[in-house]
Amino acid sequence: MTDAPLIVVSGPSGVGKSTVVASALAKDPSAWLSVSVTTRGPRDGEKEGVNYFFVDEHQFAEMIEHNQLLEWAEFAGNRYGTPRAAVEAQRSAGTPVILEIEIQGARQVRTNDPTAKLVFIAPPSWQVLQERLVGRGTESQKAIAARLAAAETELAAQAEFDHVLVNADVEVCAQSLLDLVHQRR
Ligand code: 5GP
Repeated sequence: MTDAPLIVVSGPSGVGKSTVVASALAKDPSAWLSVSVTTRGPRDGEKEGVNYFFVDEHQFAEMIEHNQLLEWAEFAGNRYGTPRAAVEAQRSAGTPVILEIEIQGARQVRTNDPTAKLVFIAPPSWQVLQERLVGRGTESQKAIAARLAAAETELAAQAEFDHVLVNADVEVCAQSLLDLVHQRR
C-alpha cells in the first residue's frame, strides 16, 4: 500500500497559513497536522504539544544528530523542525499529513520525497502582508523586521510550488486547500 499524501503548506510569515490550515481541519478533520519542534519561546496562549514542542538548542541539535527530523530550518533567529516518526506513522496508517512550514523546509521535503504536494499561500498584496504582520501584535519590532525581510525572499520562491493559493478569504482558501488534500495524484 502506498503512503497517504504529504501536503506541505508554506508561504511568508503573517500570510495566514495557520488560520487557513485550522479552518481546513475544522471543516474536515480527516487529515493530520504535524506538530513541529522549535527553539522559539511560546507566545501567549501557545501550548506545548499543540502549537509546538518547545525545546532548547541542545535538544534540537540532538534531534538533528539522531536523524529524528524530516526537515528543519533556521528562521528569523530560531530553529524549527518536523519530527519524522509521527509523520511516517500517520501516513502509513492512511492519514494524509499536512506540514505547515517555511520555504527552506519545503525545499528539503521536495528533495527527499518527490511525491509531496507543495502548496504556497500568497497574500493578496505586499501591503496586506505587512499590515497582518504588524497588526497581529505577537512580535517585537525587531522580529517583524526580520520576518518582513524573509518574506521578500519567500514571495520570490512561489514559482517552485505545485500550487499557489491567494489568501484573500480564509474560508475560500481553506476549501481550496482541502480540495488539494483530497485530489488524487
Ligand atoms: P512562527 O514563529 O511564526 O510560529 O513560525 C515561523 C515560521 O516557521 C513560519 O513560516 C512557520 O510556518 C515555520 N515553521 C513552523 N514549523 C516549522 C518546521 O517544522 N519546519 C520549518 N522548516 N518551518 C517551520
